Amino acid sequence: MTVQRRSPKVRRRRLPAGARERAPIVVERLKLEYPDAHTELEFGSPWQLLVSVILSAQTTDVNVNSVTPALFARYSTVEELAAARQEDVEEIIHRTGFFHAKARAIREMSQDLVLRHNGEVPARMEDLVTLRGVGRKTANVVLGVAFGVPGFAVDTHVTRLTRLLRLTSATDPVKIEEDVCSIVPPSEWTGLSLRLILHGRRVCIANKPRCHQCVLADVCPSAELGLTKPPGAARHRGATAG
Ligand code: SF4
Repeated sequence: MTVQRRSPKVRRRRLPAGARERAPIVVERLKLEYPDAHTELEFGSPWQLLVSVILSAQTTDVNVNSVTPALFARYSTVEELAAARQEDVEEIIHRTGFFHAKARAIREMSQDLVLRHNGEVPARMEDLVTLRGVGRKTANVVLGVAFGVPGFAVDTHVTRLTRLLRLTSATDPVKIEEDVCSIVPPSEWTGLSLRLILHGRRVCIANKPRCHQCVLADVCPSAELGLTKPPGAARHRGATAG
C-alpha cells in the first residue's frame, strides 16, 4: 500500500500574535507531559480503528472500547459488517449513543471499502473522506495512528485548546488545522493532536481549566481563565503570551 504525505495548504489568514513562538513551546511541553501519545481507543487494524473513531463521536473512548470487542467478534471482517443488518449492529453499539446514525455509518463505510477499495482502508486523505460516515477529523486520526501519515485531527478538545492557547483564532476545524499545520512541523502533527486531546480531558477541562496544574500556564494567554487556582499558588506569565 502506498503511503503519501500531505503538504499543508498555503495559509493566508493572520495568526494570533505570538502564535509562532508559542507553538514549539506547546509541542515540547506536552511531549514531556505525555511522552506516550496514543489514542485510548482499542483496535487491531486500520478498519477497526476507523469503526472505533466513528463510534467515538459524542461519547468516551472507554464507552467505545466496551462495545467493540462484541462488535468485532460478531463481524470480524469488513465484508461481514458491510452485509450486517442495521438492527443487529444497533443492538451491539447501543450504549455509545446516536446508535441509529452510527450503525448506518459503520455499515456504509464498510460497504464503500468493499465496493471501491477491495476491503482495504486507503491511506490517503482524499480517499478516506469519500467514504460515507468519514470526515476530515476521523480521516486524520486514522492517517496518523494507523498509517503514520502526519495528520492533525481537530475535535472539540483540540478546537478549545488551540484557541485558548491562541495558536489560531479560527472556529472552523479545517481552518484550525491549516493554521496549526502552518506553524508546527508535520512530524509533530499527529502527536500534538493526541496530546491536546489528553490535556483537554485531564487538565484544560471545558469550563473549568485547571490552570494551576497546567504545564503551559506561563505561556498560555488564557491562563487567567483558570478559576480553580488554589490560594497562594504562583502563576507565571511568559513573554510570549499575548
Ligand atoms: S493555562 Fe489554563 S487555559 Fe491555558 S491551556 Fe492550561 S489549563 Fe488551559
